[in-house]
Amino acid sequence: MAYDKITPPTDGEKITIQDGKLNIPDKPIIPMIEGDGIGRDISKATRRVLDAAVEKTFGGQKKIVWFDVYAGEAANEKYGEWLPKDTIEAIREFIVALKGPLTTPVGGGFRSLNVTLRQVLELYACVRPVKWFKGVPSPVKHPEKMDVVIFRENTEDVYAGIEWQEGTDDVKKIIDFINSTYKLNIRSDSGIGVKPISVTGTERLVRKGINYAIERGRKSVTLVHKGNIMKYTEGAFRDWGYKVAAREYPDQTISEQELWDKYDGKMPEGRILVKDRIADSMFQQVLTRTNEYDVVCTPNLNGDYLSDACAAQVGGLGMAPGANIGDYIGLFEATHGTAPKYADKDVINPGSLILSGCMMLEYLGWQKAADMIYAAIEKTIENKTVTYDLERQMDGATKIGTSEYASKIIENMA
Ligand code: NAP
Repeated sequence: MAYDKITPPTDGEKITIQDGKLNIPDKPIIPMIEGDGIGRDISKATRRVLDAAVEKTFGGQKKIVWFDVYAGEAANEKYGEWLPKDTIEAIREFIVALKGPLTTPVGGGFRSLNVTLRQVLELYACVRPVKWFKGVPSPVKHPEKMDVVIFRENTEDVYAGIEWQEGTDDVKKIIDFINSTYKLNIRSDSGIGVKPISVTGTERLVRKGINYAIERGRKSVTLVHKGNIMKYTEGAFRDWGYKVAAREYPDQTISEQELWDKYDGKMPEGRILVKDRIADSMFQQVLTRTNEYDVVCTPNLNGDYLSDACAAQVGGLGMAPGANIGDYIGLFEATHGTAPKYADKDVINPGSLILSGCMMLEYLGWQKAADMIYAAIEKTIENKTVTYDLERQMDGATKIGTSEYASKIIENMA
């Protein structure tokens, strides 16, 4: 692949796809978008932590070979555009990438860079694991009960961006068409948005959730929807989700209905329970029956709200990792924004990007290195040496900066 303004490193190798699986070399080239604002602080800290864990775990036999690629303000300076083709092609070619937060320029019909990346690379699953680390301040009594992995559909639903503005000729045409064809009475001063949810989009998302549950020995997959009201979109999501489980995983899954009809509610060995919950009820359930939920699959909008609500229970966005994943490509990223007021001050919590980096290590199959970081973060927090966001909520904690926090995590690696 010929790039315009970047050159891939020569001391690493490409991740490839073989027999439908990723083939990970010992020294994979990983493109990295540093990100804008605090992205600069957290990316440096994250690379140091990941490199140290990989070095300590594999004694130099494995290594990440970073490849700097550009998006956002840095890309605008280098290329005169916010999301250059080089960057998209590098992620496509090298398959696994890490990314800091990006500014979305305000105004003028500018599409979010994050949304564009997800769409052009067909990253249809937004994956957000939410788990508590001992010592992290939380607004609930039992944050340790939360251990969910949310698979949120990324390409459909009201987020697909199909909208017409109130008062325009286009919206008038659509309202007239619907009102006259279906004998409805949509007010003429309405804006209109379209909510597509397809069999294709639902099946590939739920399949990914079930595969994850099988690989990780998880107990259940919950389909979260608002199907009691939106029957042909959200309700269909639930139905298609159950169908893909029954059709493709008949020996590995069991539905709640089947569990009661055939097994009197007693889970048979080695099966994953597939259940569904209506979205409003789910928001209560994650508070009141937290540990009954495990892998969660949901359309876009429910997943947006639910991910942040769950993250709040375990200490907020500074500790919430995420990834956008397609059939093979995985783009691992911080879930928060660029927090410009803290940019280049070396104060912000790099936890979200470090944990996203851990998800990336797991995706590469380097679980031991990820586990080493999880344990080191926990120890650092237990020692109460933390960044300002955690320090202000903890009694007797010592406030340290971003780079020092990364150093403490590295020191605490066993
Ligand atoms: P934000 O950057 O996430 O920051 C909002 C607040 O969240 C911060 O002021 C800070 O709160 C807290 N926070 C964020 N990251 C933190 C961290 N690592 N550690 C501790 N606290 C953290 O949201 P925003 O101000 O709404 O958005 C700023 C820019 O980011 C916008 O241009 C937006 O488009 C962009 N954005 C990008 C992404 C992405 O790239 N994925 C996501 C969201 C937003 P306190 O001040 O209370 O400490």
